[in-house]
Amino acid sequence: MKQNVIDIAYVVSAILFIYGLKRLQSPATARKGNQLAAIGMFVAVVATLFLQEIMTPVVMIIGVVIGSGIGVYLAKRVEMTGMPELVAAFNGFGGIASALVAGAEVARLMAPNAAYTGGALFDGFAAVTISLSLVIGMITFTGSFIAFGKLSGRISGNPISFPGMRLFTILFLAGTIGAVVWMVMNAGMFPGVGNEPVVQAAIAIAVAGAVLGVLLVIPIGGADMPVVVALLNSYSGIAAAATGFVLDNTALIVSGALVGASGLILTNIMCVAMNRSLLNVLIGGFGGDSGGGPAGAVSSEGKTVNSTTPDDVAILLSYASKVIFVPGYGMAVAQAQHAVRELADELAKKDVEVKFAVHPVAGRMPGHMNVLLAEANVPYDMLFEMDEINGEFETADVAVVIGANDVVNPAARHDKSSPIYGMPILNADQAGTSIVLKRSMRPGYAGIDNELFYNSNNQMLFGDAKDSISSIVNEIKQL
Ligand code: NDP
Repeated sequence: MKQNVIDIAYVVSAILFIYGLKRLQSPATARKGNQLAAIGMFVAVVATLFLQEIMTPVVMIIGVVIGSGIGVYLAKRVEMTGMPELVAAFNGFGGIASALVAGAEVARLMAPNAAYTGGALFDGFAAVTISLSLVIGMITFTGSFIAFGKLSGRISGNPISFPGMRLFTILFLAGTIGAVVWMVMNAGMFPGVGNEPVVQAAIAIAVAGAVLGVLLVIPIGGADMPVVVALLNSYSGIAAAATGFVLDNTALIVSGALVGASGLILTNIMCVAMNRSLLNVLIGGFGGDSGGGPAGAVSSEGKTVNSTTPDDVAILLSYASKVIFVPGYGMAVAQAQHAVRELADELAKKDVEVKFAVHPVAGRMPGHMNVLLAEANVPYDMLFEMDEINGEFETADVAVVIGANDVVNPAARHDKSSPIYGMPILNADQAGTSIVLKRSMRPGYAGIDNELFYNSNNQMLFGDAKDSISSIVNEIKQL
């Protein structure tokens, strides 16, 4: 009876996950979708509390309270610009949780006391699922924390590699597979009887997975991190699904599979956006000679830029008939989204057509710009994806680039030596006039100069984006 109730609860939570995920498809329904999925997870956690197989409900509740407390504290404390690092860290925690559960399962199944194992055997199925959970969990753990370090600037965003690294990684991968095979070959062992090989194989798999995570992420250049973050997200889901098989827990299998699959779809979207092949991502080590990464040197080669003032921009925008805003990472740093919304409202009052062009890798995490603009209640029908809007820049009087840089760099179209060569960009340079709001001539994340800034029809409005936009809004109100 109890098992039936738990099974029904898991089915309910699975339905809520799927329905929640479906609603994440549109910004208009995404908030509701997130809430539904959270309720689904709550139902699954409560149902698991009734299982009582592993530990008492009191211990579980203490764990839930500590975990939720840390989660709420971190989520409340994090700056919007620190969100990508937080996501990377959460992926990492997901990975280590899966690996720890798999490790605990090895200890349980190998325990000398048969009562403790609950009669379960270390059979072939257990060997395979535990190995996968261990290896993918550890790859996700260390890989995510390397990504965390790169995104937060604690580790250089430049590709880090050594001669023969690719071969070394392949050999290491082969060794890891060997350890998995070693573990599977020991399947069928009885608890407590000569279990050393199983425990040794488990330790070898965990250590190999940890090293592989580092080897796979460390050589990837900063400019390619969006794909890595999406892929690690997927890995954390796959590790959770494997753990679900280890524990025979339906909710974990379903939620892990959903995260794994949606993470892979997101990875594919990111690959298309960055013009990278998925195979390159999966084998790792791509972008190794790109020279990308934050804070590289800029060579302006003696070229000059036109600078402008908020007053002049206000006049230009007020008399335009069509304006496209291109938000980027700088908008997040400046927290300018509310001021941008106000500017859009003021222009709408003057019958100016305003649209927002959102590049898939603008900012520092997938959907970064959508989150910010949704927070400022920018109507969803004003947001356009790259493919939808790129043809419209030619007909726009002004493109206002708000703290974006790499995603509007025309070098991506033709400069084969550029680390962002091949990445589709927003055609801000094709508007009648482009206005770039940033504080200096410093480069963006890829660490490269931007040709757009030197175009004759481009004007730079130097300063913090929020201050600049607020000044433009004040000026427009007085016109
Ligand atoms: P960029 O990183 O290319 O450029 C951001 C610009 O914002 C900088 O040039 C900076 O110039 C400016 N800026 C910073 N602070 C402010 C401020 N307070 N006011 C005004 N401007 C400011 O951003 P993009 O969004 O164009 O491109 C994203 C980049 O990040 C891509 O290279 C992408 O590959 C990478 N990336 C994306 C991830 C994702 O998932 N979306 C994840 C990881 C990396 P200045 O200092 O002069 O003000």
